[in-house]
Amino acid sequence: MSSNAMKCRICEQELSPDAYLAEERMFSTGRSFAYRRCPSCGCVQIENYPAEPGQYYPDYYYSFGKWADPRSLRERAKRLRNRWIWFRRNPPGLILNALLPNRFLSVLRRLPNVHPRMKVLDIGCGYGEQLLALHDLGFMNLTGIDPYNQHDIRHNEELVIYRRHYSELEGRYDLIMMHHVLEHMPAQSDFFRWASSHLDDGGYLIIRLPVSDSLAFEKYGVHWVQWDAPRHWYLHTRKSLEHLAAKHGLMIREIRHDSNGMQFWGSELYKRGLPLFDASGRPTPLTKHFSLLRLLWFNRYAHYLNRRGRSDQAIVVFARQQKQHES
Ligand SMILES: [Zn+2]
Repeated sequence: MSSNAMKCRICEQELSPDAYLAEERMFSTGRSFAYRRCPSCGCVQIENYPAEPGQYYPDYYYSFGKWADPRSLRERAKRLRNRWIWFRRNPPGLILNALLPNRFLSVLRRLPNVHPRMKVLDIGCGYGEQLLALHDLGFMNLTGIDPYNQHDIRHNEELVIYRRHYSELEGRYDLIMMHHVLEHMPAQSDFFRWASSHLDDGGYLIIRLPVSDSLAFEKYGVHWVQWDAPRHWYLHTRKSLEHLAAKHGLMIREIRHDSNGMQFWGSELYKRGLPLFDASGRPTPLTKHFSLLRLLWFNRYAHYLNRRGRSDQAIVVFARQQKQHES
């Protein structure tokens, strides 16, 4: 346990002196990493960024998702669901949305001034899963970037993904989005500064991320599945996000929680010392460790917590702060 004074990288207050030792658990490498929590903004942050972080992202790491075959049953079902959310057509999509909801699209659809011609940027988008979904709904000005892709991907004239870092981009966007990326990034404040200066007035910054002001964090501590040491460097709270946003002229417009049963079954596995994946990348079989009823209950409970804003993952919509009326 280390006890040297250290300032919060978000709000600059002194961090709590006691460190949490969080183990790398997804693949059970057995290494531990020190984190501190900020008593002021609540953000949990890694003490030192690991040297060579790439070694903790094996090829089969889930976020390097393979390009899903658009003709597969699952992808066709997703498109049907998305069209229900967006156009309220295709009644079977209503059932699919109840079974496998896409809360991000539901949030986006309800925001004012969202239209197919808006300029959209997705940061850290992999092959562009979210952008492809928006393209299918008629969006026509879509850019993605991911510095970890092997090369640029030109899906079509309206959707290109560049192998670039955000700091290399110019221009302004009506919608900047980031799905489960912020928690992996250093220099959190630099990103908010960049996003604020590249967001058009009336535009939105939407960030999906794990949040530590959640029941799963409180219940499981370092066994919380979304702690994900040492890949997640920042575990934000509403307050820490508000702080970052306000520093750069933004504010939180809306928060919707969108987690699922994994916050429980994943954390339960970690508590029992079990990894999510074995050495060859095969997922731990859940039905070997939990009854079907328990797994269903985990999902129901996750829904309940989503509605109450207490689950461990959120969709946060930022907009520019209203200008004060000058007197
Ligand atoms: Zn802080």
